[in-house]
Amino acid sequence: MPLHTFTPLIPSHALSHAGGPEIWLKLDALQPCGSFKLRGIGHACETLARQGKKRFVASSGGNAGIAVAYAGRQLSMPVTVVVPQTTTEHARALIRAQGAELIVHGAVWDEANALAQSLLGAEDAFVHPFDDPLLWTGHSTLVDELAAADFKPDAVVLAVGGGGLLAGVVQGLERHGWTDVPVIAAETAGADSLAQSLAQGRRVLLDRITSVATSLGARQVCQRAFDLAQVHPVRSAVVTDAQALDACLRFIDDHRLHVEPACGAALALAYAGAPALQGFKRVLVVACGGTTNTLEQLRTWHAAALRAQA
Ligand SMILES: *Cc1c(COP(=O)(O)O)cnc(C)c1O
Repeated sequence: MPLHTFTPLIPSHALSHAGGPEIWLKLDALQPCGSFKLRGIGHACETLARQGKKRFVASSGGNAGIAVAYAGRQLSMPVTVVVPQTTTEHARALIRAQGAELIVHGAVWDEANALAQSLLGAEDAFVHPFDDPLLWTGHSTLVDELAAADFKPDAVVLAVGGGGLLAGVVQGLERHGWTDVPVIAAETAGADSLAQSLAQGRRVLLDRITSVATSLGARQVCQRAFDLAQVHPVRSAVVTDAQALDACLRFIDDHRLHVEPACGAALALAYAGAPALQGFKRVLVVACGGTTNTLEQLRTWHAAALRAQA
């Protein structure tokens, strides 16, 4: 049995507007560790354990680190996660709660990652948050579940950080012969590395991340995601932090699910009846989840974003 779970596919009345597409949700927020990350990371960790690796090392203070910690616990494998000082106490607690060793090192992720790399012994496996074929294969199971339900959407909306989810979903679409199903790639302004890359025709490296959607905060998308966007129909859509946060708060009332602004970016396109969704009959939004924010934090950010707009 894989470590991730088969997630519900439901129509959303709240996100569907009159005259717009019918919105369906793939509720990956219901994965055991709260995000889709477990699909890819679970598959990667199981494969690496079978190959004889004895420990997993990660350097993500976000949902990837939480998923590695969860996978290690399920597989009875030790896990070490190195995170920078910027990682919230809430995320640190979630990693520790899975029994992983947590090392806090460095002011920024690059420093935490450098330490993680230096810890790697011959029997250790480094688990990357988005740039690994094992991850893409795991993420692609999301599309297998759509196919098993005989549900072919007219478009798929998903959030893009480093592009692992995008790469996996496109891999799944191609495997099922759904090469004509466009992917609408949602990002927040300030974390829009894919949007800028597609506009410029090269992989852009952002100077810094200014969005609150830290799970979308890869400064550069992986080569695989960029390459797939050249051969598969991928359209980019960028929302503001305020829109993503607004979507998160509405989603709690509408579907009783608390997700991160990263996921809110995808939901926001549906809530806003965005032009990117017009012309489609049935659109699937991947509710990718995320557990690194508290509700209080969402509310504080939302209030600040509204003040900044005024
Ligand atoms: C990691 C993550 C993303 C972005 O996924 P990538 O594979 O990095 O593009 C989006 N939402 C959530 C909640 C995540 O944890």
